[in-house]
Order: sequence, then C-alpha cells, then structure tokens
Amino acid sequence: MEVGEVNHQPAGNYYKELCVVCEKNKAQGIHLYTSFICSECEREMISTETNDPKYRYYLKQLRKAAEPQILS
Ligand SMILES: [Zn+2]
Repeated sequence: MEVGEVNHQPAGNYYKELCVVCEKNKAQGIHLYTSFICSECEREMISTETNDPKYRYYLKQLRKAAEPQILS
C-alpha cells in the first residue's frame, strides 16, 4: 500500500506522545508508569504549590495515568 500518508508514526525526533496532563501531543517529556507527561507540564507541576487548585487538577490527571487500563 503506497498511499500518501503512511507515516502515522514519524521516526526519531518527531515522534510525539499524548501528554496525560494537557492532553496534547508533545515530543519531549517523561514517562510515568505507562503514561507520558510533557516537559512543560512536568515543569508546571514542579512549580505549582500543593495548595493551588491547579495542583489538584494535575493529581487527578496523574491518577488517571497511574490506574491500570481496565476495559469494561
Ligand atoms: Zn502536557
């Protein structure tokens, strides 16, 4: 099959993963469990106070990430 857009997964540097926090595809970040957190969110999380409402959001997103994916 040679139909134009075959590159669903571009190789090398251009490979992007879905960040569990901002839910965008980013090229740079870290892996937590089976999930991916982009470097921007990682930085944000580190600089966010634990009493900041944003922090709760991050935790919520991370909990989703940490939970095993069970198909119902
Ligand atoms: Zn992100």
